[in-house]
Amino acid sequence: MTSPLLQNYARAELSFEKGEGPWLFGRDGERYLDFGAGIAVNALGHAHPHLVQALTEQASKIWHTSNLVQIPEGERLAQRLVDNTFADVVFFSNSGAEANEAAMKMARRYHYVNGNPERFRIITFEGAFHGRTLGTIAAGGQAKYLEGFGPKAEGFDQVPFDDLEALKAAIVPETAALMIEPIQGESGIRQIPVAFLRELRALCDRHGLLLIFDEIQTGVGRTGKLFAYELTGVTPDIMSVAKGIGGGFPMGACLATAEAAKGLTAGTHGTTFGGNPLAMAVGNAVLDVILEPGFLKEVERKGLLLKQRLAELKDRHPGVIAEVRGQGLMMGLRTVVPNTEFIAAARAQKIFVIGAGDNVVRLLPPLIVSDGDIAEAFNRLDAACAAMETELKTAAQPGAAQ
Ligand SMILES: *Cc1c(COP(=O)(O)O)cnc(C)c1O
Repeated sequence: MTSPLLQNYARAELSFEKGEGPWLFGRDGERYLDFGAGIAVNALGHAHPHLVQALTEQASKIWHTSNLVQIPEGERLAQRLVDNTFADVVFFSNSGAEANEAAMKMARRYHYVNGNPERFRIITFEGAFHGRTLGTIAAGGQAKYLEGFGPKAEGFDQVPFDDLEALKAAIVPETAALMIEPIQGESGIRQIPVAFLRELRALCDRHGLLLIFDEIQTGVGRTGKLFAYELTGVTPDIMSVAKGIGGGFPMGACLATAEAAKGLTAGTHGTTFGGNPLAMAVGNAVLDVILEPGFLKEVERKGLLLKQRLAELKDRHPGVIAEVRGQGLMMGLRTVVPNTEFIAAARAQKIFVIGAGDNVVRLLPPLIVSDGDIAEAFNRLDAACAAMETELKTAAQPGAAQ
């Protein structure tokens, strides 16, 4: 059967009709342990009662009003984000890429209103992923996402990650900002060394540049802190957030200091849907849970537990797993076998995990995952590794079918 959907995804032959906490119920009648969380989106798992209640209650009141009027739910969510971060102001969007577009426009506009319109260039880092709009593919700089889409948007310079000299050489009088993911997600859970992030901050201060952290994947509790920058001791001027912030409801946010945001005055930027009452109600409900005393401590503890179990898995299966990476509940396994084969073997054991660059398999369980779920994930991944080892042995036997 041909699908009426645009064929821009290579979808698995799998669909789910229901979810509950960390579990997904497939239309094939099988139950899957969800260690992908819709790519780090379902921060509180599926059908969390508090989120369901917030969404349905708001749904019967008002969904959308436009940003021509006050939206008290949004004021409240923004205030809570401000109270819990470095930021003074928040702009709400519908997606990560739009949060990044706001961040990049904000940085350019900051220099513009400072009387330096020539400062518009943004330096990004190899392996970056910032989204799929024309602006964010230029920022990400990855050939595979730029190919065939015409000239790359002007104003982005890319340097290798963790190469300070290359970075210094790339800073020119036109540079406006540096933009980085504190842990690169799509390119394989690559942690940027804290010392390097400190250097970025120092360079920004020295040259009057703005530091933008893309925390779309690392944010909202994923690493065991509300935002990953808290782990680094480095504070950005602008930060983009999305994925987990809506717990599955599409939304994003761009947080900034008042100084960095000063150029985006009335009429300079906008969105029809961004920050609508429905999204804001859900965003507030997500924060209700994540900001509960002790919740993030638990994420941190469970992250350590998961890391230990994954290290054990690697020791048991050195022919399958090469390296364990990550922080909190944002973990990666660099595999010896092709990561796609690992993902398929895991799926055969009814655990859903996600690929990334650098031959990495991402484990991004919902933050509400229990110790028992982690033990279950270990057992299933262990079985997947064992199955792959058996296959590898069979393939290595003399006379094995080619
Ligand atoms: C997912 C992601 C984006 C893009 O978010 P969309 O909602 O898909 O536009 C940008 N940056 C990072 C780090 C991401 O993980």
